[in-house]
Amino acid sequence: METGTFVYDPRTGKVGEFRGKAGPYVMLRPVGGGREWEADPGLIRPATQEERVAAGVRAANARSWTGRRLFRYAPYVIAQDPTAHPEYEARCVSGDESGCGATSGPHPAPDQVEEWQRRHTQETRHLRYRRTFADYAVLERLSAGATTTGSTGGGPGPSPR
Ligand SMILES: [Zn+2]
Repeated sequence: METGTFVYDPRTGKVGEFRGKAGPYVMLRPVGGGREWEADPGLIRPATQEERVAAGVRAANARSWTGRRLFRYAPYVIAQDPTAHPEYEARCVSGDESGCGATSGPHPAPDQVEEWQRRHTQETRHLRYRRTFADYAVLERLSAGATTTGSTGGGPGPSPR
């Protein structure tokens, strides 16, 4: 097995990075760093892509959690809301102090905004735009050990992964 391979250790239920052999054991390092642990080489197997991603997300959340201890963040994953389109928009800021102010209006894709810009520039010779992008994000509690039940954001609630 190559150093750096991600393996699953059923004894601890964790994914670790293979670091090498140590006597009868293999040394595994937690995803995201930390103390290595000894695992039985007969038990470990290569981690699936899904297990690796989950371990990486957990590690990232653990890092932000310890980095902002004051807030006592629970381990949430933040993901773009797939039920809401992101919004792209451009506003023309050409001209004198007052500016032109024409806007493309929100569009679900950037190319529609660029098309509007080209058209507007062709009509007015205005060249400078302020572009904005907005999307919607949802937070999902990562572990099943929730302290509160139900969702707080009015969303569909935690979905099993
Ligand atoms: Zn303009």
